[in-house]
Amino acid sequence: MNRKQHSGVGLIGIPFDANSSHRRGAAAAPAAIRRDMHSPAGNAWSERGVYLGDASSFSPTPTRQRHRHLDDAPFIDHGDVVVPQRPAVREPIDEIEHCVERALQVTPRILALGGDHAVTYPVVRAVAKRWGAISVLHFDAHPDMYPDYEGNRYSHASPFARILEEGLVGRLVQIGIRSSSPEQAEVARRHRVEVYAAYELERVPRLEFGTPLYVSIDVDALDPAYAPGVSHPEPGGLSVRQVLDTLFAVRAPAFVGGDVVELNPLLDGTGRSTLVAAKLARELLARLITDAA
Ligand code: MN
Ligand code: MN
Repeated sequence: MNRKQHSGVGLIGIPFDANSSHRRGAAAAPAAIRRDMHSPAGNAWSERGVYLGDASSFSPTPTRQRHRHLDDAPFIDHGDVVVPQRPAVREPIDEIEHCVERALQVTPRILALGGDHAVTYPVVRAVAKRWGAISVLHFDAHPDMYPDYEGNRYSHASPFARILEEGLVGRLVQIGIRSSSPEQAEVARRHRVEVYAAYELERVPRLEFGTPLYVSIDVDALDPAYAPGVSHPEPGGLSVRQVLDTLFAVRAPAFVGGDVVELNPLLDGTGRSTLVAAKLARELLARLITDAA
């Protein structure tokens, strides 16, 4: 990669949690995750040696200064999208999609920090528009495939129903599921979703994708022992190591996008869950940067 060319990888915050069905608070996550991503408690390199440093590139700077470090930053921080916290309506969803589309014009690969899981639908729409046929690898305790949840089609319990019915992804693989329902299992069957429940992790093959890949990480995929600060904690989940090792083992022609969603800093008294979310965001970012190089 030309030293004067930026990596083409971006970070964007989506502080939006209006479609959370139970407890709000995920909107506070982008700021909390950014703080921990460049905490002096850690250093500037990913586990596998990707440089993520230069704190200036992390700060959610005003628009005018945003691209000041374009040439030498390991990635570009696009700051946070500003959307009204209106539940169950299309407008904020469209606005998120437009913001991500604009960011993708500068950095074709992107990591989004939610927000609740409802934000994945507009982010995947934008990434699929940019890259064409993509696959999604989805870590979660829940399938998030309710046709609607309590009447809300944009609920954080429904993003993958929307993604599937619009044919945005060629292949969806879910890992860590342990709280499904017959209704969602039917959606999975209909769309040939590959589901690996939390109790069958040893069955997960070495995943190989034939199209560009998007990785969506719901922090509640992890066991509450690692990340209790989520709105819907579900015991019996994955370890941080299991998520990372699964991620590192995946093969795909390109890693083009991802998200870390559902961290609820308001329920994270010790700060432990935020630390985990920041770790996952850093490693996902590193994977995007490696792939873009
Ligand atoms: Mn979940
Ligand atoms: Mn979810």
